[in-house]
Amino acid sequence: MTTRFVLRNVKTTNGNTADIVVKNRKIAEIAPAGTGAGDEIVDFNHKVYISSGWIDMHVHAFPVFDPYGDDIDEIGYKSGVTTIIDAGSTGADRIHDLVSNSKKSKTNVFAFLNISRIGLKQVDELSDLSWLNEEELIKAVTENKNFIVGLKARISKSVVGPNGVEPLKKARKFSKETDLPLMVHIGSGPPDINDVLDLLEKDDVITHYLNGKANNLFEKSGHPLSKLHKAIERGVHLDVGHGNASFSFQTAEQAKEHGIHFDTISTDIYRKNRLQGPVYSMANVLTKFLLLGYSLEEVIDAVTVNPAKWLRKPALGRILEGDSANLTLFSVEDESIVLQDSEGEKRKAAQRISVKGVVINGEYIEC
Ligand code: ZN
Ligand code: ZN
Repeated sequence: MTTRFVLRNVKTTNGNTADIVVKNRKIAEIAPAGTGAGDEIVDFNHKVYISSGWIDMHVHAFPVFDPYGDDIDEIGYKSGVTTIIDAGSTGADRIHDLVSNSKKSKTNVFAFLNISRIGLKQVDELSDLSWLNEEELIKAVTENKNFIVGLKARISKSVVGPNGVEPLKKARKFSKETDLPLMVHIGSGPPDINDVLDLLEKDDVITHYLNGKANNLFEKSGHPLSKLHKAIERGVHLDVGHGNASFSFQTAEQAKEHGIHFDTISTDIYRKNRLQGPVYSMANVLTKFLLLGYSLEEVIDAVTVNPAKWLRKPALGRILEGDSANLTLFSVEDESIVLQDSEGEKRKAAQRISVKGVVINGEYIEC
């Protein structure tokens, strides 16, 4: 007989409390607080929040590559993230290795396939257009249909070299051929950000949208570029992708002031920025958005409901009876913490989000 496991007296971000009962890797029951029956019961005494398992839209989960690599479960379930999406660490040459690594890990993994066959083996992966091999890319997509959820194109100066937006035009073509949306990394120009925005379509993702570089999405005055408004109207999705160099408190404040809301909050985590900051963990990144004045519900939706919707797997972002049990348990502690952005600017927060545990495919693990 399989055990029935009860997470008792947990809170949701909309203010309800409940008991969540897990059995056979699934959510067996959502019962009124204090009433769930089971063989094992962990009582969280109304102090701990529960959400569906966090989804990180932008990570680097291929440990072989340096600097942009890390171990799947370190950035995954051990940090409260039950689903990660690798953001183009591998291209057609190594995607199979990423798939086989993911099978040896507990964390659920999807990937954006780098449009360059070499992926992040070198960090100027779009500087030689012969690496953008269509045949290999289509083969990789066909062979990994349920794993690859989009194509990744890093469109900034040090990556594209002299090629400008040419790699993005190719990406657009690959997107049509494969029917997969693009995740586009933005950063320093050339190419000019306006030329990048012109090429983006519905369901494409801009990652690093709050970067503080000269070629970002905001005018010096803090106003959003008019082409950004148009891209949002077309259905382009805004993702944080914090990283070492791509999250600025000042830009985030400008965005908030002008109503340029994130769709998803992601970390762009890899070994170095996990161990030495400024990313550290998903919880640390989420804490920054609480400090900016977003509600806990908005912040948690950005790692549950919203990425699940983008993935066209809406159930992945909700706690539903009968679904696979992927859950994140966390608290909001009244503890001061110094937070740092990618520009080296520090802010003191009075509250921090802290991960307490996860349920990953039915298995409860304390963090
Ligand atoms: Zn990037
Ligand atoms: Zn990245």
